[in-house]
Order: sequence, then C-alpha cells, then structure tokens
Amino acid sequence: MFRELRRKRQELSLEESIEILSNGKSGVLALLGDNDYPYAVPISYVYENSKLYFHGAKSGHKFDAIKKHNKASFCVIDQDEIIPKEYTTYFRSVIVFGKIRIMENEAEMKEAIQALSIKYNPNGNETEHQNAISKDWKNLCIIELSIEHISGKEAIELVKARQ
Ligand SMILES: Cc1cc2nc3c(=O)[nH]c(=O)nc-3n(C[C@H](O)[C@H](O)[C@H](O)COP(=O)(O)OP(=O)(O)OC[C@H]3O[C@@H](n4cnc5c(N)ncnc54)[C@H](O)[C@@H]3O)c2cc1C
Repeated sequence: MFRELRRKRQELSLEESIEILSNGKSGVLALLGDNDYPYAVPISYVYENSKLYFHGAKSGHKFDAIKKHNKASFCVIDQDEIIPKEYTTYFRSVIVFGKIRIMENEAEMKEAIQALSIKYNPNGNETEHQNAISKDWKNLCIIELSIEHISGKEAIELVKARQ
C-alpha cells in the first residue's frame, strides 16, 4: 500500500532510519487540515516502543485535524548540508506514515510525557520532570502516531562516500 523509494540505492536501512527518528530534535507532522488542505506543522516528538509521541494543546488546528482524520505522515531531516558549487544538498531524512490519535488512557499518557521529558531534559531529575508535567497536565494533549511505514533516504553523494 505504501510506495517504495524509486531510487533504491539511496535507501537507508530500517535501523538507520530508526536511529534518525530516535536522535531527531523535531519534525514536520502532516495532517489533513481544514477544507482538506494538508496541514504540515513543525513539532517536537519522541520515538518510543516503535511509536511516535507528541504533546500539544487541547484545541487548535492540529487538534481538530487529528480528531477529524486519523492518517498522518511525519518527516525528520537529519542532515541538510548545502554544497553550493555542486548546486545540491547532502541530505539524509526519514518519512513515516501511520495512524494518529489523541491519547486518553492516563497511564499511557504519563508514560509518553515522561519519555518526552527525558528526551528534552536528559539531565533533569525525576522531581523536575514531575513538576513540569503536573504544571501543565490539565491542559495537555498527548498524541500517539502508530507507525505503519518508514522510509529513509540519503543523497547519492553520501551513498558514494560510504563505498
Ligand atoms: C521546532 C519546533 C518544535 C515545536 N514543538 C512543539 C510541541 O512539541 N508541541 C506543540 O504543541 N507545538 C510545538 N511547536 C509549535 C507548533 O509548530 C504549532 O505552532 C503549535 O503546535 C500550535 O499548533 P496549532 O495547530 O494548535 O496552532 P493554531 O494556532 O491552531 O494554528 C492556526 C494556524 O496558525 C498557523 N501556525 C500554527 N503553527 C505555526 C507554526 N509553527 N509556524 C507557522 N505558522 C503556524 C497555521 O497557519 C495554522 O493553520 C513547535 C514548533 C517548532 C518550530
């Protein structure tokens, strides 16, 4: 159902793609927005247990789009090194497709927000994480993207440099 890369040589392995997802700082979440226009919104995330988790507000364009339509895509750019003389970029990126939902189970939500807290404040202690979480908990919307398809791709120049 999902498309394969046309340029197979440039395909990253699943392990490499997962590493990019694990290490990425942010990505662009693509949703079906108002009047069926795509809504591509930059957002922080964490990759955990083969899923992606996000947090946001309980209202707004993103929230409404997720409620309306449960199919989504997410893209992370790992490298974008412009080589002016070659009129190109040495890029590496990952694209994910999957089903998205607003989480409702409190225990699962806490696990996800804990993972986000640790990712973005790795030096924080448990008390700091819990204080930050409880401060915003009431207004927090936690979102889960269950991954159905992952592809990773890099510039042909990076492929050649490996050989
Ligand atoms: C690197 C990065 C990380 C972020 N991490 C998070 C996160 O973890 N959680 C989170 O909730 N938000 C995060 N944001 C902000 C996020 O991009 C949205 O602005 C926010 O989630 C609100 O989305 P919304 O659809 O509810 O906004 P709404 O205000 O409902 O959107 C209304 C309209 O505002 C415009 N708009 C909304 N956001 C942006 C934007 N970022 N840039 C330009 N126009 C915009 C769009 O036209 C949209 O249709 C992050 C942004 C960046 C750049």
